[in-house]
Amino acid sequence: MNIILLGAPGAGKGTQATKISDAYALPHISTGDIFRENIKNQTEIGLLAKSFIDKGQLVPDEVTCKIVEERIGRADCQNGYMLDGFPRTIAQAEALDAITKIDLVINIDVDFSLLMDRLCGRRVCKDCGESYHVSRLGGATTCSRCGGELYQRKDDNPETVQSRLDVYNAQTAPLIEYYEKKGLLFNVVGNTTPEDVYAKVAAKLDSLK
Ligand code: AMP
Repeated sequence: MNIILLGAPGAGKGTQATKISDAYALPHISTGDIFRENIKNQTEIGLLAKSFIDKGQLVPDEVTCKIVEERIGRADCQNGYMLDGFPRTIAQAEALDAITKIDLVINIDVDFSLLMDRLCGRRVCKDCGESYHVSRLGGATTCSRCGGELYQRKDDNPETVQSRLDVYNAQTAPLIEYYEKKGLLFNVVGNTTPEDVYAKVAAKLDSLK
């Protein structure tokens, strides 16, 4: 099954992606993670991506689409995959349609008023990518899942978060209608706990098996 996880920054896409990937043995493809890895390794793509990511803007479609096409063409995606953070524009969705068939689009819908706090308080594990909120860490600085060190993403600051939310509204939100028209959209309210959201997503995935 080829799945897309859609939702505003902070909606909980990454958290759900980890759970779905573990339970359904689907490779988790996060364009944000691919860019961060490239930035860490100081590749050409990383240097280019950084200039956009630091401002809360999108990396140009040509670059992003090429990366995804290469990634989903690999052997581990033969039996399905899960895209997290891609597509983010109509042009990306059209490019994806030209190379693959999507079976389901899960849209995690969260009240906008919650997102700023979720993102600015987010801490992420350097090793496994698990996300936490600082208010629930009780001062812990390591990941309870794998023991890795927790850090705050550079783009999780109020100014950059605001541009990411603006970019989402202008460029990514139209994808909801795009996929609804294709009959592929599954909406899930993401204001509750990750466990509650996952239970609804899993019920949907199981119904499609
Ligand atoms: P994320 O980890 O999904 O929040 O992505 C972090 C940043 O990477 C975004 O704010 C964008 O600057 C960039 N990025 C990730 N995915 C895409 C995409 N599909 N298209 C363009 N830029 C992206």
